[in-house]
Order: sequence, then C-alpha cells, then structure tokens
Amino acid sequence: MPTFRPAALRAVTALIARRMGSAETEAAEVADHLVRANLAGHDSHGVGMLPTYVRLLQSSLLVPNQTAETVLDAGALLVVDARRGYGQRMAADAVRRAVGRARELGACVLALRNAAHIGRIGTYGELAANAGCAFVAFVNVSDHAPPQATFGAAEGRLGTNPFCVAVPGSDGPALLLDMATTTIAAGKARVAYNKGTSVPEGALIDAEGKPTTDPTAFIRDHLGALLAFGRHKGSGLAVMCEIMAGAVAGGMRADEPYGDGVMNSMLAIVIDLSKLGDPAEIVGSVEATKAFIKSARVAPGVEEVLLPGEPERRSAEKRSQGIEVDPTTWNDICAAAGKLGITQAEIDQALGANAG
Ligand code: NAD
Repeated sequence: MPTFRPAALRAVTALIARRMGSAETEAAEVADHLVRANLAGHDSHGVGMLPTYVRLLQSSLLVPNQTAETVLDAGALLVVDARRGYGQRMAADAVRRAVGRARELGACVLALRNAAHIGRIGTYGELAANAGCAFVAFVNVSDHAPPQATFGAAEGRLGTNPFCVAVPGSDGPALLLDMATTTIAAGKARVAYNKGTSVPEGALIDAEGKPTTDPTAFIRDHLGALLAFGRHKGSGLAVMCEIMAGAVAGGMRADEPYGDGVMNSMLAIVIDLSKLGDPAEIVGSVEATKAFIKSARVAPGVEEVLLPGEPERRSAEKRSQGIEVDPTTWNDICAAAGKLGITQAEIDQALGANAG
C-alpha cells in the first residue's frame, strides 16, 4: 500500500489545487483540510476527493478563488452565499467570520449557502473550538441524485446530510461529534469499492430496496441508496439537516432539480463560551462529565468506552508518521493531476521534497 508522510501528501494536494487555479492560500487551506481528514481516519473526505474536485472544476461546478456574497449581515445573523466556491476555503472563511461575530455578541447564526463540497465538517468544529467557541452545524448535500433513503423509503431522497457538534477543551475540542446521517458516509462506500471490500450490513439497499453489502452498483451505476442511521431517529435528523441548511439557511434544496455537482449548505450556531460564563469552569464540567461517561463498565467484547472525537484523535496520532492511500485512489489522483497537465515527475518532486 503506498504510504506517505502528511507533509508529502499536503505538497501534492496543494500542487493539484494550485494547478486547478487556486491562489496559494486557498491551495494551502484545501491541502491542509484534506490531509487532516486522512489523519483523522476519514479517507472518504481526504485526498481521495481530488479526482471529484477536478471533475467539478472541469464542469464549472467548483470555482477556485471565488468571492462569497454576503447576503445578510445583521448582528448575530450572517448569511453568506459561496456561489460554488472551493468549499474548504469558503466554509472556513465563513466560520472564521462567525467566530469573530460570536466574540462580539456572544453568539452567531451562520447560514452558508451553495459551497462546492466542504469536506469534513469536523474541521470547522475544530476551528470554532480552538477559538473557544461551541459549534453546532446542520449540513445538507445537494446537486446530485440523492443517495440517502429516509426511514421506510426504498429510494434516495436526501444527501448524506452531516451533523456536527464541537465543544472546546483545554487543548483543542474536548468533544467533537461529526457524522453523516447515513449509516456510512457515501465516500466510505467509494473507499470500500476501490479496495474491493464490502460495506457493513444495514448501510445500503439495492435498486429494489433490498439490503446489500456490495457497494459496486451504488458507486459504479448510481443504483440503490444508503440508509439513515438509527432508523426513524437518524432519519429525522437527516430531514432536519436538509430543512435547516436548505429551506431555512437558503441553500440549494433536495427537492430542486439537480445536476452532477456536489454542493453543501450549512446552518451553524457558534457560541463564545467566555460570553456565556467562565470558560475554565465550563471546560471543567465537560471534563467531569466525560470522565463519568468513560468510567462505565464496558460491554462484552468492547475494550474501552470512547467519546465523540476520540477515534479521530487517536487515528491522527497513529497516522502522523505515514498515511496509507490505496493504489486505486492513488492512481485516480495521479490521473486527475494528469488532466491538469501535471507530470509524474512533478508529483514525484513534490513528494520527494517532503519525504523527511
Ligand atoms: P464515523 O461514523 O466514523 O464517526 C461518527 C462520529 O462517531 C464521530 O464523531 C466519531 O468520533 C464517533 N465515533 C466513532 N466511533 C466511535 C466509538 N466507538 N465510540 C464513540 N464514538 C465514536 O463518521 P461518518 O459518519 O462516516 O462521517 C465521516 C466524515 O464524513 C465526517 O467527517 C463528516 O463530516 C463527513 N461528511 C461530509 C459530508 C459532506 O457533504 N461534506 C457528508 C457526509 C459526511
């Protein structure tokens, strides 16, 4: 399995983003985001997204260096239309603005509309938490055939609609819940397909609505649908992500005619803990609650009770010395780079200069 140092993957990703047309700062933001997703263990939202981004660029469905439009700037309400801008920078810029507003007013409600794929939502939770803010985000995914079947449905009607909550700690987020509302993120079905493995039971239905663990038809032929997690409850959360990010925030909705893009809209609430009370006291209470939860006896066959965000932190520690990228994904990345005129020698040079 090809294995890369994080710095080497960052260099190749930034090279591709620059050749897509991004300015240095945008390319660096995209590269950092994607590699951090790999470090967190979410290969579905890491550098393996690059071929999709190149396809979106070449169909004018992703716009590098886009200037977001401020639709409403009214105290604690901020509405920003990203106009298909490169999602990682559009979303990070908007959340940074919302954090600034929360610092002034105590809280900010951010409606981010119509960004090209914004990637791993946890990145924005980390951004807010690192600035001392709690963060709640409802996100919808639109502009392609809807891959999520809601509870009781035999076909897709929604995107994989992620939900995220982050709470600050003394060193980064104390807790970070970041999840698709489908049992697995769509990208995880792509990773399974690329590796030739199956997806977990209860995650996927075929074109007839019957359960399957084979991701082939879903990824290759866009047939079947991913199931919402947690039956009617997860399905309900997926519906509310759609409503909050689409109808309420004003982003593209699931019921609108779609194309072949990947668009994210987000309704995020950012709360400055220092305006709410004593942040140290709040963080102390969070840690006490965490310790209480973790002190439970473990269920048979389980090693440890984990909390939201712990698997990602552990993965990042483990992968800091090397990130494996499966051969199919790596070949796809090199082919996408080739479409931008990037030679293998340039890729090798970017990797080589960052091998240490
Ligand atoms: P996941 O199922 O791996 O994890 C979901 C959450 O559960 C995480 O907060 C994780 O810390 C926690 N968790 C995992 N194992 C745990 C355990 N044993 N005990 C306690 N907590 C545990 O994540 P996912 O649903 O596959 O999502 C993957 C990524 O996909 C996320 O980063 C999400 O933002 C991203 N995503 C993005 C989009 C988009 O359109 N931009 C759409 C869907 C998903």
